[in-house]
Amino acid sequence: MKFVENPTQSAEYLRQAIPLMVKYNIPPNPLNYALWYTYVSNRIPTLNFQIDQTIETYGTCPTMMSEQLFRQHVINEEIEHSEKAQAEFISIATKLGSKANAAAQETSEFRTILEESLIALNNPENANSLDNIINNLSEHTESLNKGTIRFQKELEASQAEILKLKKELQKSRQDASIDPLTGLFNRRVFDTELSQIIGARGDKSATLVMIDVDHFKRFNDDYGHLMGDKVLQYFGKLLKEECPEPMLPVRFGGEEFAILMIGKDQDQAISIAETLREKIQSIRIKQKKTGKVISSITASFGVCMKESNETAQQLIERADKALYAAKGNGRNCVVTA
Ligand code: GH3
Ligand code: MG
Ligand code: MG
Repeated sequence: MKFVENPTQSAEYLRQAIPLMVKYNIPPNPLNYALWYTYVSNRIPTLNFQIDQTIETYGTCPTMMSEQLFRQHVINEEIEHSEKAQAEFISIATKLGSKANAAAQETSEFRTILEESLIALNNPENANSLDNIINNLSEHTESLNKGTIRFQKELEASQAEILKLKKELQKSRQDASIDPLTGLFNRRVFDTELSQIIGARGDKSATLVMIDVDHFKRFNDDYGHLMGDKVLQYFGKLLKEECPEPMLPVRFGGEEFAILMIGKDQDQAISIAETLREKIQSIRIKQKKTGKVISSITASFGVCMKESNETAQQLIERADKALYAAKGNGRNCVVTA
């Protein structure tokens, strides 16, 4: 769970959360604060529903319940990631610990042998067994050397394992939010961002653009699924280039894309959609097998500005309707709702 509000928005949530916590007799500790902050942000409807029900039943939110809700909703993903990672880090550290012990044991044994050898050398009665002492010493020096090299290698292997683990962690975080084919953020990220915008008080303008590739089934049938994938990849690249932050272009699913245009009104969104539409209709792909140039890729657009008090679902439905109308208008066009 990321908290991405700006300071003004955070202060507003603070202003709303504290009186509620006082009203329901909630201890003002950091866990509860995070919980009630999330509650007033309205970002996770199921959390709000569960809190409302708990308050209705108990008149407050008991500590056990708060902890459970906090784990379930606020730090859910982090726990999943860190529990797996923690277990693996512990296993590496344990392995390494026992190997370090073995290495230390070897070093201490060697020190004893060195001391014994020194005593033996200082004793004139042992003059005849000098060869034995030297042989014994060199044998143990060699064995210690080997042990040290082995330990060094084990250390390096563990370091590599830790590095690999770190990369896997990073990747699993990315996998959860990025569509592998287009490299765009996925529907999950879109839903989170949209509910945040909807939950935010104040009249921040935002416009939703829904895009659907025209006759894409036919395209796949005519040119093959791989070529279809290439087109979707091109869409990903184009949307990234044309819609920089704070716009959020995502792969909505299949051959559908959405752009959340934060701070843009309907006219600005239409103008960006028109640019995209024109760039898409000018895509030319040469088919390797036949050398034929494909020039029939177009997309339809539904544009719709967020209204106050509208839910995420309602906004998506309106944008979808506009998109449907664009299909009805002969496709390759931008329609507003
Ligand atoms: P319309 O203009 O009405 O949108 O027609 P359409 O053919 O695009 O719509 P339809 O919903 O009938 O078909 C969508 C097609 O998109 C079918 C499906 O195979 C294709 N598609 C969805 N995801 C992918 C993908 O990841 N790769 C490829 N190559 N095709 C995909
Ligand atoms: Mg579709
Ligand atoms: Mg389509």
